Amino acid sequence: VYVNDVGHIIRNREGEAIRMVGAMRDVTEDKKHQKLLVELNTELAKQAKELANSNEELESFAYVVSHDLQEPLRMVTSFLQLLERKYNDLIDDRGKQYIHFAVDGASRMKTILIDLLEYSRVGNEKGGIKDVNLNEVMENVLKNMRSTLESIPKSRIDWDELPTIKANQTEMVQLFQNLLSNALKYRSNQPPAVFVHNKSTVDYWLIGVRDNGIGIDKLYFDKIFIIFQRLHTDKKYQGTGIGLAICKKIVENLHGKIWVESEVDKGSTFWIELPKNSYFVG
Ligand code: ADP
Repeated sequence: VYVNDVGHIIRNREGEAIRMVGAMRDVTEDKKHQKLLVELNTELAKQAKELANSNEELESFAYVVSHDLQEPLRMVTSFLQLLERKYNDLIDDRGKQYIHFAVDGASRMKTILIDLLEYSRVGNEKGGIKDVNLNEVMENVLKNMRSTLESIPKSRIDWDELPTIKANQTEMVQLFQNLLSNALKYRSNQPPAVFVHNKSTVDYWLIGVRDNGIGIDKLYFDKIFIIFQRLHTDKKYQGTGIGLAICKKIVENLHGKIWVESEVDKGSTFWIELPKNSYFVG
């Protein structure tokens, strides 16, 4: 049994101890709880470390796989093309079609590998966390998307005055470019009109990317943010299903949240919420 013993000595005028007032309390239960808490904390710290390690391993695995697979894939494609060129007279139409399918598959695989590489790089971008003016980010993104924008008649992208936030510049361009490209890609029959709202509050930056596109059934609001999850075939809308997973990773690395509000045939708004307090950030 553990006890906590507190005593106070009462003395007479001459300073002699004449009485002692005290109390003794059984603190065995408190001790047990303290010990349990220490054990739980140690266990928690151990698990957090294991999780961080396995995350790191997974990321370097994704990086190595996507990087190293590109070379053998190049070999496959170039030898198939060589085969087609060199033995053109010997291969019948069906054979040529098979080669075409194989080359097409290899080229899709290459796109997936490049996207996977981009995904595994999130969080390791050069430049670190700095003040990033999101208006400048928008200007950059529009420059990058100029040819796409020009190819879609009457398409418009407008935005509110946007804040300057603490983030990585390259990742912010990636984030907004993915969302804006999707807003144009998943357009309906009417010309795409995209608007970027700034609804920030005292504590949070809140930015919404609204489009007037095909919209998303609420059944899939969570699914679309998972890597490789797509709602359409590659024939109808090209893509690998990594864009929104990259957006989620970028936002969550900044301790923020991303979600979608949408109605089929009306359009979608992708919301990004980031804490303002730099204490939260990295
Ligand atoms: P990808 O565009 O390569 O398929 P994303 O991760 O960017 O990959 O998007 C995942 C899925 O979410 C898309 O396949 C599409 O079905 C849906 N989606 C994303 N953005 C929009 C949007 N603005 N409007 C409608 N659907 C969208």
